[in-house]
Amino acid sequence: MADSLATIGAQVRACQLCRLAETRTVGVPGEGNPDAEVMFIGEGPGFHEDQQGRPFVGAAGHLLQEMLGKIGLRRQDVFITNVVRCRPPGNRDPLPDELAACDGYSQRQIAIIKPRLIVTLGRFSMARFIGSGPMRELHGTTRQWNGITCLAMYHPAAILRTPTPEMRRVYEADFRKIPELLAAARQQPPPSSAAPAEPAEAAAAERADQLPLF
Ligand code: URA
Repeated sequence: MADSLATIGAQVRACQLCRLAETRTVGVPGEGNPDAEVMFIGEGPGFHEDQQGRPFVGAAGHLLQEMLGKIGLRRQDVFITNVVRCRPPGNRDPLPDELAACDGYSQRQIAIIKPRLIVTLGRFSMARFIGSGPMRELHGTTRQWNGITCLAMYHPAAILRTPTPEMRRVYEADFRKIPELLAAARQQPPPSSAAPAEPAEAAAAERADQLPLF
């Protein structure tokens, strides 16, 4: 049977792959347009997301939505998920084994949606798809990952923590790169699936460590 976002959603809500299952209220698989050209990948659910089972519904989500509006996109036009899908207790950083345990879900969602552009929000998602380094240097830069353009951005919560006009300007400038990157990506052949579509194959690929991790 072909893999689907609904299957992944059900598996995330029942997931026991890492210790975050012990403390979460509900898993947060991600949501949005299954045919989205742009996929946003954040860090992990916070308090409100953990309660509601939906990504980016708190203050950071409001800023994300505001920024989407500036480039003519709505939440429902894009797909939004996180590198870990259960809330780390006390909003601590996700641990390497938790990131690794959840990575298969990211790969399967990417394989189904086949986005033209992945926008990483924050350092953990950036480390997975773009590379490690100081955010102040890497934000606004791109890298090809399995044939998909990936754009590094600050996490919206970081902008809320430093609400200076300069940070807002920088953030908006990074968002305004999305339409031009999308236009360029549309000129390329569509990304051949970044990961296999079948759950069994996806599991095998994970075991084989087919894709570079961290
Ligand atoms: N921060 C994240 O990284 N993801 C969410 O879903 C909410 C806040």
